[in-house]
Amino acid sequence: MADNAIPLVVRDLHKSFNDNPVLEGLSLEAHEGDVISLIGASGSGKSTFLRCMNLLEIPNAGDIVVHGESVKFKTRRGEREPADWKQVERIRARLSMVFQGFNLWAHMTLIGNVIEAPVHVLGKSKKEAREHAMALLERVGLADRADYFPAQLSGGQQQRGAIARALAMDPEVMLFDEPTSALDPELVGDVLKVMRELADEGRTMVVVTHEMDFARDVSSQVIYLHQGRVEEAGKPEDVFGNPSSERLKQFLGPRF
Ligand code: ADP
Ligand code: MG
Repeated sequence: MADNAIPLVVRDLHKSFNDNPVLEGLSLEAHEGDVISLIGASGSGKSTFLRCMNLLEIPNAGDIVVHGESVKFKTRRGEREPADWKQVERIRARLSMVFQGFNLWAHMTLIGNVIEAPVHVLGKSKKEAREHAMALLERVGLADRADYFPAQLSGGQQQRGAIARALAMDPEVMLFDEPTSALDPELVGDVLKVMRELADEGRTMVVVTHEMDFARDVSSQVIYLHQGRVEEAGKPEDVFGNPSSERLKQFLGPRF
């Protein structure tokens, strides 16, 4: 399939911090409707991989192609950097990210958070953005909290708000970095439910997660990282049901 028909292609990504290699040749292809789960021990490079995809980190080598648009890099004083910051803005709008921590802007109401980028990046009218935002808040179960500030919301509500904010850009791919791992256990289910619904609707997603039930039930592909390399990857029934790597077996533990 030609790259321009694929929402996200990443090829042979490398990233080092201070000469410490952290990603050593990672690739993935997220086709329309795919849910790709990235699993692996803490420090294996999951967040860095995701952050490279939407250019919060700049990879030292490798290609990122979003629906056929290749990210352009240049090298200045030995450092690779984006060649076109307008392109970076465009790519970030097409791949929106939900982080582990609660990243709503504290000085804005929930709905203010959701309409911010559609108004300022996409140039939508406030009226149109608010209507769309209300529909999204409805979907994540927060219509009655639109005028609350983040500090007045629970962690789970903030994460669902962050998902609504990401959806407001109508992204081609949603990137999630352990969106439930900072939540109190009783709040995790509501957030996972929203993510399952997005997957069922055919949203293309790349999800870093420790929620193995979610990864097994929802993913089209699971990638297990170890020290910045793919140790094992495949369909969830194979990765969970019949892992070949000893390390992956250890990682999954006796439940699988
Ligand atoms: P994971 O998300 O799988 O826990 P990370 O991608 O956060 O892993 O980190 C992978 C490795 O890269 C770790 O050894 C971490 O210390 C290192 N690392 C991540 N970000 C930075 C940074 N900004 N500067 C230096 N080292 C970093
Ligand atoms: Mg991480």
